[in-house]
Amino acid sequence: MGLQVIPLKLAIFGPPGSGKGTYSSRLERELNVEHISTGKLLRESIERKDETGKRVKGYLESGELVPDSIVNNMVKRKLKEIDMDGFILDGYPRTVDQAEFLLDLVDLDAVVFLKIHEEIIVKKLLGRRVCEKCGKNYNISDIHKEKDGVGYELPPLTPDKDMECDSCGGDVIERHDDTERTIRKRIQDYNERKKPLKDFFDNRTETVEVWSDSIPSVVTEKIVEKLRKFH
Ligand code: AMP
Repeated sequence: MGLQVIPLKLAIFGPPGSGKGTYSSRLERELNVEHISTGKLLRESIERKDETGKRVKGYLESGELVPDSIVNNMVKRKLKEIDMDGFILDGYPRTVDQAEFLLDLVDLDAVVFLKIHEEIIVKKLLGRRVCEKCGKNYNISDIHKEKDGVGYELPPLTPDKDMECDSCGGDVIERHDDTERTIRKRIQDYNERKKPLKDFFDNRTETVEVWSDSIPSVVTEKIVEKLRKFH
C-alpha cells in the first residue's frame, strides 16, 4: 500500500504521547521519506560533545526549548545533507519563528496534526514502559473508551516475558519523567504552543488532522490515506 510516487515534504505535530515518533518511523518506510527528529539530533550532538551539544545540554536537561537559531541552523544543515527529496519533520517546528524559517527554506506539502484527549494521554503515558538497555517502548495501559464520538482502542503492548525486553532481554522500566505532574505540564506547554502554530499553518500550507485513537498500524494507515491527495 506504499506511496512511492512523489516524495512528500511533511511535518508532524501533536501532544506528548500522541505517537509522533512511532508514526514518523512508520511513515518513513511507507512513504519513502527521511524521518528527521530534532530531539534525536540534539541528543546525538550532546553525546558527541560537539559545539551545538555543549550549548543545548542545559535546555534538554530542564525540558526548556532550545533557542530557535540553534535548531533552525541544525535543521537547515540536515535538509541539505539528506539524499532524499522527501522528509517528515518530527518535533520541529515548535514555534512560529521556526515555522517561518522552515517555509522560507522549503515548500511543505502538508502538516499532520495528531489529536488525542488529555485524559487518554495521561493514562497512556502513565502506562508507558521502556527498556533501559535498548530504549524499546512498551505500554501496560489498556484503553477502550468512547469520548466525544471518538472510539479509543489502545490495547496494552507488553513484553512476552514479565518486564524483560523482547529485543534485548533488558529490564523494562518506568521513565522517571512520566509522572502525572510532569505529563500535565508537558500537555499544558503543548496547548499553549499549538494554537499559533495551527493558525500559521492553516494560512500557509495544507494541514490534515488525524485522531490518534488506535494501534500504530491503523493510525498510520489513516494518515497515509489523508495524504494521498497530495501525491
Ligand atoms: P523531543 O525528543 O522532541 O521531545 O525533544 C526533546 C527536547 O529537545 C525538548 O524538550 C527540547 O529541549 C529540545 N527540542 C527538540 N526539538 C526542538 C525544537 N524544535 N525547538 C526547540 N527545542 C527543541
